[in-house]
Amino acid sequence: MTEMQATTSAATGGTPGRVVLVTGATRGIGKTIAETFIAAGDTVATLYRGGDLPDGVHGYVADVTDSAAIDAAFTAIEKDHGPVEVLVANAGITRDTLLMRMTDDDFDAVLDVNLRGVFRCIRRASTGMIRKRTGRIILIGSVVGLYGGAGQVNYSATKAALVGMARSITRELGARSITANVVAPGFVETEMTAVLPEDTQKQYKSAIPAGRFASTGEIAGVVHFLASDAASYISGAVIPVDGGLGMGH
Ligand code: NDP
Repeated sequence: MTEMQATTSAATGGTPGRVVLVTGATRGIGKTIAETFIAAGDTVATLYRGGDLPDGVHGYVADVTDSAAIDAAFTAIEKDHGPVEVLVANAGITRDTLLMRMTDDDFDAVLDVNLRGVFRCIRRASTGMIRKRTGRIILIGSVVGLYGGAGQVNYSATKAALVGMARSITRELGARSITANVVAPGFVETEMTAVLPEDTQKQYKSAIPAGRFASTGEIAGVVHFLASDAASYISGAVIPVDGGLGMGH
């Protein structure tokens, strides 16, 4: 670890040098989360489907819809770096359309990545965490999990389900120093929101008390905090990072 990394880590209160797995770290929020942990001195791996990786991220090809590929990737990570101590389940997709037009395939595809994919990764990560009697599980939910979103019956159902998942894990594994929390972003400045027409962006922003979208760094900072020593007694929580959009829900 370099001196700079050690200083950054001390400043943010993390325990440097852990093995952190961020699913879907090729772009967007996952990429910034991976970069944040690397800057703090942690070893970061990702399960990804191919393409470019951010500097310093160790890539393991696995689709989160494939249990066997996930198992093989975890086995390789454990061999190369040691057991995963922090799991950030970030990979997610949307297939937005109005309820009447939503096909079974639209529904199942989103469930398979956003819900079953998260379950598969947690199940595999938990074996090492239970053995080590420590672990941090951070699930990337969404404001629409509790607030709802027109055209997002499939997506919002998966994000709401993550809350039950984190809370059940908390009850099951809490006594072994394993925490499980949901970070629920609102609108975030990513490729997805950048392509929205200016008028639509304006309309969304007018509904957000903060009056703007979040940067990916504002999500990553909260994820990093939840993995830090300072958050050791936070579990089963839903932490909104939405500029106030979903408050009261
Ligand atoms: P992006 O679409 O930019 O990135 C998603 C990542 O997930 C990519 O790396 C993608 O890989 C990966 N991924 C998708 N499907 C799979 C799969 N089957 N197996 C493995 N990896 C997969 O998303 P964002 O950064 O915008 O979102 C990240 C998370 O934050 C998601 O869970 C999303 O629901 C949530 N979120 C996002 C918000 C936003 O405004 N952007 C708001 C609230 C929540 P590939 O390159 O192979 O497709």
